[in-house]
Amino acid sequence: MRGPLFTKKHVPRSIYTMSKAVELLRKAEFTHGAQLFSQLPEDTGLEVAFAGRSNAGKSSALNAITQRRALARTSRTPGRTQQINFFMLDEERHLVDLPGYGYAKVSHKLKQQWDKTLDRYLQERQALQGLVLIMDVRHPLKEFDCQLLAWATTSGMPVHILLTKADKLTRNKAIGVLQSVRHRLEQDYPVATIQLFSATKGTGVDEAQALLGKWLKIDES
Ligand code: GDP
Repeated sequence: MRGPLFTKKHVPRSIYTMSKAVELLRKAEFTHGAQLFSQLPEDTGLEVAFAGRSNAGKSSALNAITQRRALARTSRTPGRTQQINFFMLDEERHLVDLPGYGYAKVSHKLKQQWDKTLDRYLQERQALQGLVLIMDVRHPLKEFDCQLLAWATTSGMPVHILLTKADKLTRNKAIGVLQSVRHRLEQDYPVATIQLFSATKGTGVDEAQALLGKWLKIDES
């Protein structure tokens, strides 16, 4: 019978050492949902918010980044997508899941109310360190994405784009999209950085985790 490739003694150390950022991201717990601006938790500490059109893959990206399979529910359970959801990493740090934009089945009135809450959150939140913008690699830079990028550029708010579902394209095609969107960003929205991502295949998860570690000032010393 064949023995294991690694006995415990021989496992390379790197397999066991996890960065502090990953360690903390894995601790994410849902703590708070707000539908109105007045329901937001206290504006202290550091937070990074995830935004994107409905169905772009935001919940899947949050789950992959925190390595928690069911942290953020998928778009098929609308209740959770109608509010700003807070996930605590520690006393000082949060991830924030913003309402998916363009969810079809809500009334005009409710949509207006969200837009107002979202607007105020983006404009007033002191804890907000940056935005992770989720775009399906097959449908990048839709109207809402561009609106958010334009706002971030004028406000100097850092944005990092995840081009999700990269596994749906060949590697060459995905790189082609990455390059053309990057070119457009350099011209119009220089505040933004970008990477390929796949929650299904795990592509780009480590890069996104490292960025969150930096934005949330998770000490790696
Ligand atoms: P949300 O509405 O932005 O939160 O999107 P979800 O995370 O719920 O994903 C929408 C759909 O896309 C679901 O059917 C997911 O399984 C699928 N999906 C999300 N991320 C990926 C990915 O990286 N690869 C593939 N192939 N499908 C994905």
